[in-house]
Amino acid sequence: KIDIRHLSKRFGSVEVVSSVSFAVREGELMGILGPSGSGKTTVLRMLAGLETPTTGEIYIDGKLVNDLPVQQRNIGFVFQHYALFKHLTLFENIAFGLKIRKWPRKNQAERVNELMHLLGLSGLDARYPGQLSGGQRQRVAIARALAPRPSVLLLDEPFGAVDALVRQELREWLIRLHDELDVTSLFVTHDQEEAMEVSDRILVFSKGRLEQIGTPAEIYEEPATEFVARFIGAMN
Ligand code: ATP
Repeated sequence: KIDIRHLSKRFGSVEVVSSVSFAVREGELMGILGPSGSGKTTVLRMLAGLETPTTGEIYIDGKLVNDLPVQQRNIGFVFQHYALFKHLTLFENIAFGLKIRKWPRKNQAERVNELMHLLGLSGLDARYPGQLSGGQRQRVAIARALAPRPSVLLLDEPFGAVDALVRQELREWLIRLHDELDVTSLFVTHDQEEAMEVSDRILVFSKGRLEQIGTPAEIYEEPATEFVARFIGAMN
């Protein structure tokens, strides 16, 4: 569970996130939707501990994490440009975080096999990233992030670099995976359809402000502001 209160971020004199408050329920998949430059990535980076908030509090599972380093936040992330380790096999990539955390070998293998199965990667253990398709690579990245059982999963445009067909396939994997594992997740996208399809609820951002929070149906049927109406309307 995530609780964000009055979160702001200023770079120099520019405020890119302005007093944003919201909560993500246990097991919920929350979409963050907004045009380029609206502050979506910055919110995620503050959650991950990669950026320090100018003001505001971030609680994860009831604990204030503002001053905790990245490694102690129990968060898994998949960023578009956060590549796989090229010199490690698929199995070793997924096991990476478990090895660091010194999980016993047997438990590592069990967990990696479970995730390979869930993500349709069984049998590909020994492949290197260069021998995988774009869609498979993104699934490995998701498996790697989930392996240590994080309490929160952050996804920033994870399907940005693949073609439309693979993108659709990855959305379906994400939905299936989320049904199976129920991990509290935040999913950043600028694609309205994608947010509508995968999210339990959606946060709509514009210019660093939270315009609306609601289910896909609420946002579509009852846009709270003119911006939301126009932005969602742009889908059709
Ligand atoms: P996109 O979809 O293009 O990634 P976004 O909604 O994720 O956009 P952010 O990446 O959070 O938006 O950026 C919000 C604003 O903050 C942008 O105007 C960006 O230029 C600015 N910004 C982000 N990081 C920094 C930084 N380290 N220093 C200065 N400005 C920054």
